[in-house]
Amino acid sequence: MDAKKNIITYEELRKMLIACADRIIRCEAYLTQIDSRIGDGDHGIGMRTGMTAAKRVLAADRDDRDIYAMMAEMSGEMERTMGGASGMIFSSLFSGNAKGHAPASEMTATEFAAYMESGLHNVISIGHAELGDKTMVDAFAPAVDAMKHHTGSFGEMILAAEKAAHEGMEKTKDQIAKFGRAKSLMERTLGFQDSGATSVWLIFLQMADEITGRTTPDPVAEEETFEQKVVSKKIINDPNAVVAEEAEGFLAAFGKEIEAVPGVNGFVRKNIPEGKTALLIGGGSGHEPMFGFFLGDHLADAAANGNVFASPSPETVYQTAKAAAKGGGMIFLYGNYAGDNLNFDKAAAMLEEEGIHVRTVRVKDDVASAPRERMDDRRGIAGDVFAIKIAGAACAENDLEEAYRIACKARDNLYTIGVGLQGATIPGKTEPIFTLPAEEMEYGLGIHGEPGVRRTKMDTADHIVEELLDGILADSGIKEGDVVCTYINGLGSTTMMELMIMNRRLAQLLKEKKIRVHDMDVGSYVTTMEMAGASITLMKMDEELIRYYDMPCRSPYYNKNV
Ligand code: ADP
Ligand code: MG
Repeated sequence: MDAKKNIITYEELRKMLIACADRIIRCEAYLTQIDSRIGDGDHGIGMRTGMTAAKRVLAADRDDRDIYAMMAEMSGEMERTMGGASGMIFSSLFSGNAKGHAPASEMTATEFAAYMESGLHNVISIGHAELGDKTMVDAFAPAVDAMKHHTGSFGEMILAAEKAAHEGMEKTKDQIAKFGRAKSLMERTLGFQDSGATSVWLIFLQMADEITGRTTPDPVAEEETFEQKVVSKKIINDPNAVVAEEAEGFLAAFGKEIEAVPGVNGFVRKNIPEGKTALLIGGGSGHEPMFGFFLGDHLADAAANGNVFASPSPETVYQTAKAAAKGGGMIFLYGNYAGDNLNFDKAAAMLEEEGIHVRTVRVKDDVASAPRERMDDRRGIAGDVFAIKIAGAACAENDLEEAYRIACKARDNLYTIGVGLQGATIPGKTEPIFTLPAEEMEYGLGIHGEPGVRRTKMDTADHIVEELLDGILADSGIKEGDVVCTYINGLGSTTMMELMIMNRRLAQLLKEKKIRVHDMDVGSYVTTMEMAGASITLMKMDEELIRYYDMPCRSPYYNKNV
């Protein structure tokens, strides 16, 4: 188009947005590499999913030639299908002021700037990030500001926005992350740019190319170092189909009692009793046997699954919840991550509108991920297992409010710390999310392959257990005379032999400290694919929690007292 023009037509905008989507799709590997440094390495995948959804809408030429209806439909399709933190965030960026807007087949520069400004407001109102928090807002807000001050022509406006987005993105290198999966890393995020900000810049870069007719090359992922060139061997067919094909295999194995929710990646128990308080769990894939394998008697009723390490979309959660709703309301129980919170909250709001009551319990057991004063910022990791155990038992016997109270009590008494020895590789990628020299380990590790809180020297099993337990006791205040259940979780490739050696030391230490053990569990229920490492979880018990803990439960992977 002519860069000096002050007006963009429906057709020019459609072409420009398709080009932006193509740019992001081409840059998937680059975005994923950036997200791997301080996030969980899924940003490229999430953006590719979203931009593919956007293209589906943009590909169809509209009879009404209405820009606003096209944009509303595009952002709606992204929101429904994308998942991850970026799903809600980037669909909001594109949602602008489209909703309820009078139809128009062209837009002035001022109108386009206003559209993007509304998008920014939408992003902030759902994500609450401020400038300096190291998110996409740090690129998007300056870009919107630049647009507002350069409305003379589209060329002038978009070039100014691209420049501002680039500067904003560069500045994120000097910021400490306060949102998303990167936030647990605190100071360790310094020096690395934010992945969402990078996507924003790429979108404006492509807009500028389209408008000025120039062609700038795609940024490329850096050369892998020798250490990173460990080719991942995985038994898969198509990296893009792993989650769907996994679901087919799962149903072939457990389809007697569990069925698929049509149209989305969700599972639901067959024969959930009428009126039952339902328990819905879920999150990204890659943590198997969490989540689907925990559907069963006195456990969860439904599981909503996302892509590898990415939250399920609101549509997936909503449809799965509908399939499990039996009139008794529902508990959503999942790990505390920005992406999951946004997507599950959106689904909960959709259900509430239909009169289905939802109570939300976010597991936040990872002691290392934030200090005690910021408990609500903590992530959910292996403690999920005990939270599901108690919530499942409580939902089997109680109405929604009572089951919610008990589930919260379990959640509030859960403490976990882990160590990571080697990162996992996302299907289709050739390098692990992180690699470590033989003599080092990561202390305080998430379950998405995010790097830990700090790197320490590799140590003996006994010393590792001592350090992890000390951390938990110092934080939780669990002391002599208290009763606990313990759980040692392997992250994927750590052997049962190693986990039992850890458990041996854990039992010795608890005995020495005169902390009473009600039950000890050891397994690999919450994995990060083939990551190496383990965590220790303690749940502080009281009589009520013990009663629910001891209730029998049965599922494909987790059984107690049956
Ligand atoms: P996830 O964090 O679920 O892995 P992605 O990797 O797809 O999601 O996206 C991460 C990006 O999303 C971050 O780099 C950040 O720019 C953006 N983001 C996350 N949370 C927020 C928020 N609350 N507000 C604005 N942007 C956010
Ligand atoms: Mg990510």
